[in-house]
Amino acid sequence: GYSMKFHDTIAAIATARGEAGIGIVRVSGDLALPIAAELFRSPRGVSLTELSTHTLTYGHVIDTNASDDVIDEVLLGIMHAPKTYTGEDIVEFNCHGGIVTLTAVLDLVVKSGARVAEPGEFTKRAFLNGRLDLAQAEAVAELIASKTDLSRKIAIEALAGKLSDTVNSLSDRLADLLAEIEASIDFPEEDLDFMKVETQLGTARAVQTDLTALLDTATEGRIITEGVNVAILGKPNVGKSSLLNALVGATRAIVTEIPGTTRDTIEETINVNGIPLKLIDTAGIRQTDDIVEQQGVERSKAVLDRAELLLLMFDASQPLNNADLELLQTAQSAKAILILNKVDLPVLTPSTTLLVHCPKKQVVETAIPEDKGLDALKVTICEELLGGELVVGESPIVTNARHQEALRCANEGLNYAIESLENGMPPDLVAVDLRISLDGLGDIVGRTTTEDILDRIFSQFCVGK
Ligand code: GDP
Ligand code: ZN
Repeated sequence: GYSMKFHDTIAAIATARGEAGIGIVRVSGDLALPIAAELFRSPRGVSLTELSTHTLTYGHVIDTNASDDVIDEVLLGIMHAPKTYTGEDIVEFNCHGGIVTLTAVLDLVVKSGARVAEPGEFTKRAFLNGRLDLAQAEAVAELIASKTDLSRKIAIEALAGKLSDTVNSLSDRLADLLAEIEASIDFPEEDLDFMKVETQLGTARAVQTDLTALLDTATEGRIITEGVNVAILGKPNVGKSSLLNALVGATRAIVTEIPGTTRDTIEETINVNGIPLKLIDTAGIRQTDDIVEQQGVERSKAVLDRAELLLLMFDASQPLNNADLELLQTAQSAKAILILNKVDLPVLTPSTTLLVHCPKKQVVETAIPEDKGLDALKVTICEELLGGELVVGESPIVTNARHQEALRCANEGLNYAIESLENGMPPDLVAVDLRISLDGLGDIVGRTTTEDILDRIFSQFCVGK
């Protein structure tokens, strides 16, 4: 492991900027307790050495350089190493949650010898001191950044070690296999042991089945945490803005009777059954001479490139025109749902007509003013993105691009190892492939991760975590 001793003490405001009931200045390192002893006064005259670990004590933060001015009334949290978040001594000043107060307390802490922490530095120390593995440390950031209850659930389970346990058990099985294969390097006569190679192959294939199952969760996992760009496309006046408004539940986009009024693209993020959808309404992909609208049209083409799911809208009360036919063409090669809107009006274009042009796509009929079809649309969106509803169950879900990539490497290495075994290659070659696979798995929990990758990961954290 990396376990190491840091010689500086770090401090940061650990709570969000802005007015709040409380705000916390967190300090970690060898100087944490001496700094608290210098700045904190208990009205009962309790000294810090009398306080036991993991307790809160009422008192004041005072400025010893300014005739003991009272800076704030606080609760002081004291946690002695090693059973703390970072593995170091930690003190937390629970202050009143105003930025001026918190900045004043942080300033005093820094004057007393601490350094302002970099983003994620507390968690980085937790990792380097072995309090968390890397996947758990990343789960902390994912938990904080959760946009939906589903991503929160996945993150809190990863923080508890659910993903790490699975990865570690795959590693253990591969390490055992590697040990066995390395043993046969030393005893080459056993190369010819056919039964042995068959057993090794069986083990490797069994590990691969489980590894692939884990890797397969990444597509859905990333949809849940990162969300999906969804573009709403259709000819002017088909009801794009109305749909966006109905899904968002507020009148954000401008709805008008004149075709082409949604000049700009409008974006909203909504939560559809646990999936964050970044909805984009566009000016439509109609050809136009109007310069202002032309710009909107350009932008909507860019939106089309960025979109991972298309909601293509058609007007049931009108015959299909060229723009509609063009959209149906677009739908063929994309992940798309067809929406037949305005079914409350006399129908000129039934859904069967859309299906003639796009037999493989789903059609949802809607009448937005009557709230008709919106729930069905949400269900269809989930089916399209996740193949049904995603349940957070027994097995962990990969939500992070880095983990996905590491698993891909691990799988590739294992693939080569299996091929080598199948082709009767010498055990030292099989061992090389297995080590690649083990390194990939090790990257996820941070066993084999380099310093610059660690820096990159932790720099994306917020300050004070
Ligand atoms: P956009 O140009 O595609 O954004 O279309 P809008 O959302 O601005 O809607 C154009 C007009 O169609 C507005 O008057 C809406 O109220 C109306 N509209 C939208 N959806 C429906 C629907 O399902 N039924 C009916 N009857 N009118 C609708
Ligand atoms: Zn519009």
